Amino acid sequence: MNKASNLMQEIVSLCKRRGFIFPSSEIYNGFRSCYDFGSLGVELKNNIKQAWWKNIVQNRQDVVGLDASILMSPKVWEASGHLTAGFADELVECKSCHKRFKLDELKENKCPECKGELTKPRKFNLMMKTFVGPVEDKAATTYLRAETCQGIYINFLNVLNSMRMKIPFGIAQIGKSFRNEITPGNFIFRLREFEQMEMQWFCHPPASKTTRNRRETKRETDAKNWEPDDWFNYWKEERMKWYLDFGIKKENLRAVEIPEKDRAHYAKRQIDIEYKFPFGWKEVEGIHDRGDWDLSNHSKYSKKDLSYFNEADKEKYIPHIIETSVGVDRSLFAFLCEAYEEVKGGRTKTTKAVKESEMVLRLDKRLTPIKASIFPLVKNKPEIVKKAKQIFDLLKPNFMCQYDEAGSIGRRYRRADEIGVPFAITIDFDTLKQDDVTIRDRDTMKQERIKIENLVETLKQKLNSE
Ligand code: ATP
Repeated sequence: MNKASNLMQEIVSLCKRRGFIFPSSEIYNGFRSCYDFGSLGVELKNNIKQAWWKNIVQNRQDVVGLDASILMSPKVWEASGHLTAGFADELVECKSCHKRFKLDELKENKCPECKGELTKPRKFNLMMKTFVGPVEDKAATTYLRAETCQGIYINFLNVLNSMRMKIPFGIAQIGKSFRNEITPGNFIFRLREFEQMEMQWFCHPPASKTTRNRRETKRETDAKNWEPDDWFNYWKEERMKWYLDFGIKKENLRAVEIPEKDRAHYAKRQIDIEYKFPFGWKEVEGIHDRGDWDLSNHSKYSKKDLSYFNEADKEKYIPHIIETSVGVDRSLFAFLCEAYEEVKGGRTKTTKAVKESEMVLRLDKRLTPIKASIFPLVKNKPEIVKKAKQIFDLLKPNFMCQYDEAGSIGRRYRRADEIGVPFAITIDFDTLKQDDVTIRDRDTMKQERIKIENLVETLKQKLNSE
């Protein structure tokens, strides 16, 4: 087995063993391409969503949030182009083993599994069909959304008016999307049910040459005069910074300009942000210049005027859209791969296990599911256990904590390192005399004694520091 597939197996096994990710419907032998997030997985997922929301919505004045429904009028998907060839993959089937493949993922014109002959490609729409109401007929057909952004476009006027927004501005949303992928796989990389974090940036369309000249002078100082392409570059930089800020190494991240023939049907320009997964460079986020495709089509199909009127310039136009779209599951997978480290020979000196390798999940402190583990040094001294439980109660309302009294202290450190807990707090005999505890740092393994009365504040500072 090669190094990459070994690493994948270790990550998948850690996810199952420690409660990050389970295969869906496991007791019924699984349900391909669906996964359930366990108790630690859901914390990690929530922290990633919160980190994105804080960066995109909370810290800015010009982006607001939305949570639109998954089911929408089927007309939405006519207008968006998803029901036509625009959202179809080319599918081929092996005439011998009957496995199906995406044409653009094949390296040769043979079945990659059994080398059998392939059928001619046919278009396969990725939309998941469902029925609304008691009768399963054409009139009741609708679709599970294939991307969250359509809910944003159809609410463009509602948000614009209720929040009194002025262009340029953005609307952000996090939610589930569904695609009937032909070849799901690589653990949680390609799923049929997944979650997206999308931001749609509404800006002025490309100006005509004369207006551009008139605006050019102000362009550097006044972002209102930026062209869509300036915004595209701005958002690409912003999004690249986000991954680096949360611990992805520069050498594992890249932005790839997508040529016209490979772009999504709505995209005038497209950049994929790619992460170097154990199985190769793959997309984690798409930045798309969607032009006026969506709002023009929704205006046409709904017969509602979705244009924007700028009072100051007395100018009316259909806004241009720059989109940033990232998968929660896929970025979570990238963060996990990046954080996973195996230390050969071990790193804690306290137990016999020193010669074994140990795992450390070096997740960013803001993302890691559990912020502090609380360990009574021994579990057979009631005063120490009582004190440790008091400290757990003190910290719990402030941070996600875990109480652990099973096994040697070294073993407990290793258990905490493996799930990325940044701080381990030990309550020992000195605690009873001095009212202080030991804090051990996951990364440096340094230990320091802190007074219990300062513990919450100290942890807050440590968790917020770089
Ligand atoms: P791919 O080329 O991998 O199929 P895409 O270009 O179709 O992806 P977009 O439509 O741009 O993807 O969706 C934006 C983001 O949503 C992707 O970058 C990815 O993170 C996530 N995403 C899309 N499809 C899936 C899926 N099937 N499973 C998990 N995440 C997905």
